[in-house]
Amino acid sequence: MSTNGARALSVVIVGAGFGGIAAAIELRRHGFRDITILEAAPRLGGTWLYNTYPGAACDVPSHLYSFSFAQRRDWPRLCSGQAEILAYLECVAHDYGVDGLVVCDTQVTACAWDDERAQWSVATARGHSYAADAIIIATGQLHQPAHPRIPGIETFAGQSFHSARWNHDVPLSGRRVAVVGTGASAVQLVPEVAEQAARLTVFQRTGNWLLPRRNRPYPPAIRTLIERVPGVQAFRRRFMFQYGEAITLAIRHPATIGRLLRLRSIAFMRWQLRDRELRRKVWPGYTFGCKRILFSSAFLPALQRPDVELVTEAVRAVRANGVVAADGTLHEADVLIYATGFKSNDFMFPMEVTGRDGRSLRDDWAAGAHAHLGITVPGYPSMFVLYGPNTNTSGGSIIAYLEAQAAYLRQALTLMRDHGAGGIEVRPEIEAASDRETQDRFRGTAWTRCDSWYRDEDGRIVANWPGYMREYLRATRELDPAQYLLTPAPRPTVASL
Ligand code: NAP
Repeated sequence: MSTNGARALSVVIVGAGFGGIAAAIELRRHGFRDITILEAAPRLGGTWLYNTYPGAACDVPSHLYSFSFAQRRDWPRLCSGQAEILAYLECVAHDYGVDGLVVCDTQVTACAWDDERAQWSVATARGHSYAADAIIIATGQLHQPAHPRIPGIETFAGQSFHSARWNHDVPLSGRRVAVVGTGASAVQLVPEVAEQAARLTVFQRTGNWLLPRRNRPYPPAIRTLIERVPGVQAFRRRFMFQYGEAITLAIRHPATIGRLLRLRSIAFMRWQLRDRELRRKVWPGYTFGCKRILFSSAFLPALQRPDVELVTEAVRAVRANGVVAADGTLHEADVLIYATGFKSNDFMFPMEVTGRDGRSLRDDWAAGAHAHLGITVPGYPSMFVLYGPNTNTSGGSIIAYLEAQAAYLRQALTLMRDHGAGGIEVRPEIEAASDRETQDRFRGTAWTRCDSWYRDEDGRIVANWPGYMREYLRATRELDPAQYLLTPAPRPTVASL
């Protein structure tokens, strides 16, 4: 402890994806030195390390899907692929000197707050324990693959894997491949797999709304313009930000603006889907924008290939030699790929998180995850969640949210440090009020009009922020100290003096 009462804080960050790296950079820039990032994987990268399926890319343009403080002018195309995004994150982590803070191959199993010592104890699967004054849980929403529960799934005699754990040792060329799911990952991988496989069967449970995205490499003149002419990059970023806000506008107003964007989607899908029978099978039956709008100009043409079949009957069972649909048809397959999404509502679980007075986050979130601005939870001092409850975006860049969250938690830690406090905790009434307001703001929006991964089992929307990016950035810009409780630091014991 310093003579003016300020404390040097130790911080453990769980997860070295975009969130964990953003937080480490922000804290380093503001004088926090004692930072450790624990990462289960062998390298940093998070979702961009794990999702290596063919065609994996971010459908958010790179000028927006990148840190505001680390803009690149030489992106080769509008939306970057997985390898480019991973390389970008590694490069930024290196440039800002935080890559060396990452402890890899270290899975965190539990975080427990010690009331007496006013410290977190972070336990790992290898049996190590880290003590920290504050923890940042940056595991995000999309890190645990969701495997469907299908009778007989274990009896499949071929090779099977999840899209987020692609097995690159399995050849697809000349083989019969089945893909379950038609979400954001599937629309990217299906056209690529169709190119290789002898036959491809795609199992669709719900047809989705699509908008075009061709994503060709920039012509040299455009690349040069972006690279050389000052302001072009910044203009593009602002434009894409506003484009994202327009998508949110459509989702928030399904009967008006939503209808207009829906018309754009209808025209595009009709134009691409020449086969009437296929059009009928693919057509979505839910309000535009309720589930994630998918951007691809390659998915629907792939479905129309003679060697691709779209099955809209439910998946009833898996057998040794293929997948049985609800009508009893066996669709034979050598390789079975689950593009079935993530256990997004689990957030950091199964990690055990124990707060003040031994309370369990699993119990506190039993009726649905909630946190003030998606970041702080009453009863869990000096704990911050990144990409937490109600901070997903359907029309924008999650990196903008992560940067805002990193700056917000840095303000909290600065407050705690400058006051020599033992902990900082959001006031329960503040969190309850902000949660009510968040949930109220979903009323009348497209998000409430179908079932999606944004909702938990009770239908509560726990994934998404209900408003615009600009609103979230405004709400998190300045932490209001009146909304927080600072708890005293423990008195030093004789032994530690
Ligand atoms: P997802 O959107 O949750 O899609 C999962 C798909 O699997 C859906 O079509 C779902 O059908 C289907 N499914 C799940 N269980 C099934 C079962 N038992 N039987 C048949 N079908 C089943 O997952 P994802 O495609 O991996 O995408 C998840 C999120 O990751 C996205 O929403 C997005 O936020 C992010 N992502 C982003 C990008 C990008 O370019 N920015 C790319 C990929 C992923 P239902 O629709 O009927 O549930």
